Amino acid sequence: MSDIENTPEQVKFADFGLAPEILRALTDQGYVHPTPIQAQAIPILLQGRDVMGAAQTGTGKTASFSLPIIQLLLAHASASMSPARHPVRALVLTPTRELAVQVAENVAAYCKHTPLRSTVVFGGMDMKPQTEKLRSGVEIVIATPGRLLDHVEQKNISLGQVQMLVMDEADRMLDMGFLPDLQRIINLLPKKRQNLMFSATFSPEIKKLASTFLTDPITIEVARSNATAERVTQVVYKVNEDHKRDAVAHILRQRELKQVIVFSNTKIGASRLARGLAAEGMKASAIHGDKTQQERMQALDAFKKGEIDVLVATDVAARGLDISDLPCVINFDLPYNAEDYVHRIGRTGRAGASGDAISIFSDKDERLLVDIEKLIKQTVPRATLEGFVPGGFRSDERHGDRRRDRTQADRSAPRSGERREGRGDGPALSPRREKVDPWFLKPYEPTRSNGAAAAAAPAAPAKPKQKIAALLGGLPKG
Ligand code: AMP
Repeated sequence: MSDIENTPEQVKFADFGLAPEILRALTDQGYVHPTPIQAQAIPILLQGRDVMGAAQTGTGKTASFSLPIIQLLLAHASASMSPARHPVRALVLTPTRELAVQVAENVAAYCKHTPLRSTVVFGGMDMKPQTEKLRSGVEIVIATPGRLLDHVEQKNISLGQVQMLVMDEADRMLDMGFLPDLQRIINLLPKKRQNLMFSATFSPEIKKLASTFLTDPITIEVARSNATAERVTQVVYKVNEDHKRDAVAHILRQRELKQVIVFSNTKIGASRLARGLAAEGMKASAIHGDKTQQERMQALDAFKKGEIDVLVATDVAARGLDISDLPCVINFDLPYNAEDYVHRIGRTGRAGASGDAISIFSDKDERLLVDIEKLIKQTVPRATLEGFVPGGFRSDERHGDRRRDRTQADRSAPRSGERREGRGDGPALSPRREKVDPWFLKPYEPTRSNGAAAAAAPAAPAKPKQKIAALLGGLPKG
């Protein structure tokens, strides 16, 4: 990618003493200069030190650990075809299948001029092709923990010669309950090895995990930038809980948004919202942990190609995806974990472009908003979404078509192509709503000057945005 931020000093990859095969692969990738995390991590890792890296996806962190791994393994690389000459020497653990695939693609690209072999194993797919690949001999394995243990149990892989272990998105792995699996895996590895751990957050649990398996680690944090945060225009719209879906549909349609991620806190909520938006005629799809691997890949692929405009995602599914530089992210739900808010909005406002982070919230989310504002040390402007009266009816319900819009009969009639949804799902989305709802009649004006931001009434003066930028950290693409 071309918009990723590079180190200001214009350090070159060649300055690290990387092998010509690796440098060639980087040239093939179009990388000219290392990113800040790469500039910091690569020399330290090449010295064999353990590293604790504070970085998230989008910072170039994958190359920051892959390149030293490849360089160090090249010393043992064998051109022989024998599987025995290609034992597993480096193991990269990731929380999600998507991240595993992304890391594996990068590693394969960086290894392509070397005799080193790599592969990826993750759940939700047939084990057989993975088994064949593992048995043919691979030096670098990228894996999700559960599936790796399945392969260990079936004796498809031996971890007895692993020299380097990477835990990518360690915080997410803990969130997803992988700790027991991680411990089992670590017990299978040689005691003497180099360990790297990457995490976007440093919770007490993460620090505890780090202290148990890192030896005298060097902590690396990527250069922080205010630029990213400064370019993100944040706003929260307060609406009634059961109008949240309508509000999202309204915003998407009114602003004619394309390439938007809408975050939902639950898998079921993500599916329902995507279905509802699709029934409204929008090109929407959901991505979450209950989807099959194939469905997730297809949705992601379609989104990247622009065949899908709206990707409704849970944090777990979205985390680790190389999707950034979006014009807008929408929080259908405010996240339970305030740091997730920062990660979510960090997907927009990059690459010198402005971005919008829009959150929908209802009375019951007040505490979540307070937590977010405490973390980011600023007040997110509140605004009223035209037609949605917090604590009351939507304006169309009050003034115009309430009887028609609110009747249970109307609500229960499934439209063609839409599955009937259960109670408490919020109002069904009407495909022809523009005709009856006054809020669609008002033309949308550009974000920064529009009602959203301008009519916003901050509860307290906004404070400096350093903290949020620090959390966004990483790779200021802008
Ligand atoms: P990551 O944070 O590892 O997921 O990387 C994010 C994106 O940046 C990926 O698409 C990488 O291919 C790309 N990338 C990594 N390092 C560089 C670099 N030094 N120059 C340009 N792009 C890079």
